[in-house]
Amino acid sequence: VADQWLHTIVHADMDAFYAAIEQLDNPELRGRPVLVGPKSGRGVVLTASYEARPARVGSAMPMALARRRCPEAIVVPPRFERYTEVSKQVMRVFRDFSPDVEAISLDEAFLEMTGAGHIFGDPAAIGRKLKEAVREATHGLTVSVGISGTKYVAKVASGYAKPDGLTIVPPDSAVAWLAPQPVSVLWGAGPKVQARLAELGLETVGDVASYGARELESALGKMGRHFHELAHARDPRPVVGSRTAKSLSSERTLTVDVSSMAQVQFYVRQAANVVARRLRQKGEAACGVRVKLKTSDFRILTRQRVLKRATSASDEIYEAAKGLLAEFRDPGPFRLVGVAAFNIHSGQDDGQIDFLAPQSAKSGRLDDVLDRVDARFGPGTVQRAGELLKRTVFDEHMNLDSLIPDPSDQE
Ligand SMILES: [Mg+2]
Repeated sequence: VADQWLHTIVHADMDAFYAAIEQLDNPELRGRPVLVGPKSGRGVVLTASYEARPARVGSAMPMALARRRCPEAIVVPPRFERYTEVSKQVMRVFRDFSPDVEAISLDEAFLEMTGAGHIFGDPAAIGRKLKEAVREATHGLTVSVGISGTKYVAKVASGYAKPDGLTIVPPDSAVAWLAPQPVSVLWGAGPKVQARLAELGLETVGDVASYGARELESALGKMGRHFHELAHARDPRPVVGSRTAKSLSSERTLTVDVSSMAQVQFYVRQAANVVARRLRQKGEAACGVRVKLKTSDFRILTRQRVLKRATSASDEIYEAAKGLLAEFRDPGPFRLVGVAAFNIHSGQDDGQIDFLAPQSAKSGRLDDVLDRVDARFGPGTVQRAGELLKRTVFDEHMNLDSLIPDPSDQE
């Protein structure tokens, strides 16, 4: 059957990942409501175990509120190193099934499985085997799996029967399958948009599908068009896995050759900003940074380095590039300066849950602000504004707990 599908895309999402790991490692927590998050009342719940969810607690909720709603819950401080370790096991399993795995977060990924029917069987067999392999590799964790012909429908499907779900939506019945579901399953439809849709009398995805595309667009702008496409199960985005990895660069031939290190650094900073911004725009992050210089007599010199983890933060890419500059022995003068990012991954550093590196979560916030300033006032504003904004943004967000909810567990 799988071969009759034009595309086969799997979305796999671990169930209550952090809480499930705590229950796995500590048998006393099994079967009991567990909240992973800071013990103090401040900060938010990162993940609630399924036993806690009937009490209406979930991730991103203030811990104090969660404890009021579920007083019997056991609060466990997060152990990110352990979660990362288990994440690696899980991603390794995913890569056994497909060369194209697009990790969205520690516990969630898309797998491109088009044409894999002859190896793994039909979609139901693919799903069962994947779930079994994850359970075995992790010694008991469960994953919910959705399979369809587009990323969007696969993602909705994985959330449909959580926990331990397996939902297969054949592409030709995707529109009908989506129709009765609430508009909240539309990607990008937050509370405000949902309220707006309700004003238009649109409560289900089917309502949105049958509403005129033009009317929807005039009511909601570009978002309206986007929702209309999703409601018709149209989502052309490919799974961007490691096989499609590439590099991204920004280089500039200078009007006047430069040889002072300060000047070279200035152009490296500009190029790093451009590269980092483009990564962020595409929702990507890079593990490698390369600096390229061309001397006035046209010799091309390059130095590169692999980073400890993927990033799309301007500061981090610049710091790596600046470090590489020290390795060039040539005194110049130079006529071209460039920075490239390579080992590019999708969604590794989407700014939502980069809890592993507080520094980066903060500078990610900064980059968000700068991107907006940039879009509004033009590229020239950003560097000067950056120095001013840096102080403000860092001071306001000293409590990192507020920056690190696990959005994938808000089902
Ligand atoms: Mg999850």
